[in-house]
Amino acid sequence: MANTITPLIAGNWKMNGLIKPGLAQIDALTKLTARKRGLKADILLCLPFTMLPAACAQLRRNRVAVGGQDCHAAPSGAHTGDISAEMLADVGCKYVICGHSERRADHHETDKAVRRKAEAAHRAGLTAIICVGETLEQREAGEAERVVGAQLTGSLPRSSSSTDTVVAYEPVWAIGTGMTPTADDVAAMHDYIRARLRRRLHQEGAKVRILYGGSVKPDNAAELLSVANVNGALVGGASLKATDFFGIIEAAS
Ligand code: PEP
Repeated sequence: MANTITPLIAGNWKMNGLIKPGLAQIDALTKLTARKRGLKADILLCLPFTMLPAACAQLRRNRVAVGGQDCHAAPSGAHTGDISAEMLADVGCKYVICGHSERRADHHETDKAVRRKAEAAHRAGLTAIICVGETLEQREAGEAERVVGAQLTGSLPRSSSSTDTVVAYEPVWAIGTGMTPTADDVAAMHDYIRARLRRRLHQEGAKVRILYGGSVKPDNAAELLSVANVNGALVGGASLKATDFFGIIEAAS
């Protein structure tokens, strides 16, 4: 890692994980992390709502933190089926993902909706992981930076700081596909995001963690994590199996 920001390796289990086998994987992960000295990364698992109480109880006082994958913008109220940021904090979560591309696509979440969720996360004392990223068509049309820039402007609360906000750059075409951008393309986009964060948040913008996400695996993690301004990874598929996820955590050290 080419800078002094502590990397964050965050797993996103999406709609995967039943309690018993899920907790067994988490147990395996905590044993692996406890055995290994010198791990540098902060470690996070963003789990389905149903697993959060048991996982938070199992991981109490453990270095592996727990997060949600989404929250409602309101603290409480008539929103059947939704979960508030306060509820996530109440169960023991420290983070929540806001505006993952699957939610932007499946639930038509706009930048404004994502910003309101991130504001809710901050209100509840959670760190918001705000996701941005272009589609393949947008990249091929030379629009990647313009799209990501607009998402950042629209999705980031004005008062964001490095302690309550993480940005995840996740090119939509790389998520779950096995395809990744070249290290040069990752470097260019992360530099661009860093410059925008600096302009928007001044000194804090230099310290906000920028994660790369999209088909990160144990065998490509070291290369991706060594790119300048890559301060960790948001990992989907490879976070489901403790040994694979641990391989990525080791690569960040
Ligand atoms: C994700 O869901 O955020 C993700 C990056 O998925 P995957 O690692 O499976 O591409």
